[in-house]
Amino acid sequence: MAAARRPLLAGNWKMNGLSTSIAELARIIEGFDAALSARVDLLVCPPATLIAAFAERAKGCKVAIGAQDCHFEAAGAFTGDLSAEMLRDAGASAVIAGHSERRAGHGESDLLVRAKAEAALRAGLLAIVCVGETKAEREAGRTLEVVGRQLAGSVPDQATPQGLVLAYEPVWAIGSGLTPTPADVIEVHAMLRAELARRFGEKARATRILYGGSVAPRNAAGLLKAAEVDGALVGGASLKASEFLSIAKVYLET
Ligand code: PEP
Repeated sequence: MAAARRPLLAGNWKMNGLSTSIAELARIIEGFDAALSARVDLLVCPPATLIAAFAERAKGCKVAIGAQDCHFEAAGAFTGDLSAEMLRDAGASAVIAGHSERRAGHGESDLLVRAKAEAALRAGLLAIVCVGETKAEREAGRTLEVVGRQLAGSVPDQATPQGLVLAYEPVWAIGSGLTPTPADVIEVHAMLRAELARRFGEKARATRILYGGSVAPRNAAGLLKAAEVDGALVGGASLKASEFLSIAKVYLET
């Protein structure tokens, strides 16, 4: 990983957590000490119902709070949706766009993901744009083609390294306990960076590319220390402070 890119560990809590979960956030905050926060950025993305309370608890601490999705409009007649501006107002500083569970479960296209990422940039949120191939696509040897197409379609033209993070999340690795080899991850990340460089020039070098999919304490070192991997999007293991922090501690090892 290039020295200029500060690693990011983003925890995606998905549809998990009640008001009592603030105790788990407190454990994350307490464990994220000066040594860790000197090495890595930490972000927790709880369900939207908890963003305001989590942001209040995290105020003045090094742990940032994010959201898992947003609407692309700033306001209007969109029952049940939340805009990037609302999420920011609630205390979020980042939002995930195009997670595979939304692409698959809610039919989100690259075009829609791009509009959501644009909304995040408009509202001053860090957009974490997810891409990743299915098992069938990998087995058909189409990983680079699929992920490259998602990148081209989902990343806004006005993206900057400060405003956008990419997350490579093979769909088959999410929640399955399966992971690609570090070499497989490096191959995809190198392609993503080359594509970013082709489109955005030199500044692509500063854009963080995370790996996501069954990252856990047992496999974190191998995945996070791979070249071109600038951190992780972590699902299940981010729900427990001890596991999330033990993944972060990979960055204390030299
Ligand atoms: C995710 O939801 O983005 C994810 C990577 O989940 P998990 O770590 O549980 O595979």
